[in-house]
Amino acid sequence: MKRINDNEILKEIENTPLKELGRKAYEVKNELHSDKIATFVIDRNINYTNICWVDCKFCAFKRRINEENSYILSFEEIDSKIDELIAIGGTQILFQGGVHPTLKLEWYEKLVSHIHTKYPNITIHGFSAIEIDYIAKISKLSVKETLEALKNAGLSSIPGAGAEILSDRVRDIIAPKKLDSSEWIEIHRTAHYLDMKTTATMMFGSIENNSDIVEHFKRIRDLQDETNGFRAFILWSFQPDNTPLKREIPHLQKASSNRYLRLLSASRIYLDNFKNIQSSWVTQGKFIGQLALNFGANDLGSTMMEENVVASAGATNSMNTQELIKVIRDAGEIPAIRDTAYNILKIC
Ligand code: SF4
Repeated sequence: MKRINDNEILKEIENTPLKELGRKAYEVKNELHSDKIATFVIDRNINYTNICWVDCKFCAFKRRINEENSYILSFEEIDSKIDELIAIGGTQILFQGGVHPTLKLEWYEKLVSHIHTKYPNITIHGFSAIEIDYIAKISKLSVKETLEALKNAGLSSIPGAGAEILSDRVRDIIAPKKLDSSEWIEIHRTAHYLDMKTTATMMFGSIENNSDIVEHFKRIRDLQDETNGFRAFILWSFQPDNTPLKREIPHLQKASSNRYLRLLSASRIYLDNFKNIQSSWVTQGKFIGQLALNFGANDLGSTMMEENVVASAGATNSMNTQELIKVIRDAGEIPAIRDTAYNILKIC
């Protein structure tokens, strides 16, 4: 596979007809996944709190302390969610929250250790870069010390949330209080050197242009060349409903399916060192999520039992295990349930 450079992928995004771009992405996918297996994990989102001080303009999920509907889940509430996950054969929790202004490392260590001790077979995939960064700051520790402590408590891997677009021009507008792009990269680098795998994400469809998209691709491909620590790339589109950004820029609309498939294909072609690319059926819906398998995706993410974050902004798609299996089979591929590390647990 010949590596494509930044100018070449920019031209592909801007000029190549969608069908042609999809065909190229499908070829790359088939080189990497000649077995025609498409995977997903049975997991559950647990958003342990919606209290957050960061004020991202694209977010409809966060609440202030004491604001109506703000919450922190108790350990008992978290346990009962995990019990429900185990009842459907789940193996992973995607554990993320807002960035709580006062909780320190000790609280997170207790929580992770509690879950890990009580549910040793459940993989804790949790805490985005901004949460890790703030836990470190408020606890007066380095990011490395914080990650080491969480890893020792039972944290297995880290989701790529909060990357949005890794271009500071864009971040300064849509999430001015968040980490800048170099800080996001550095936290993932630190995790990789501690032998903690992570994923990389991208949220497109707000105010970025195609050069910002390519900059994002480049930042994560470069880090992957250095560490090989990313397990997958996941892109989804900005969901504008109920967000401050939509109120500020009322003409912002959901990105089209064409745009989604175009960027998905481009990511598959450019990110030649990423084995796995996920389809974001949660934001795109079942049919585009399925079509994504022909545009470079080899994985449908997860069952996403209880998604709260994009649902707050209007994306309320859901599929259970049987539906995911059917979607993959109907696309002509072989469905398989995987674990967090992309090991196949069961061919369906
Ligand atoms: S996206 Fe995350 S960090 Fe940003 S405001 Fe929402 S909950 Fe907070």
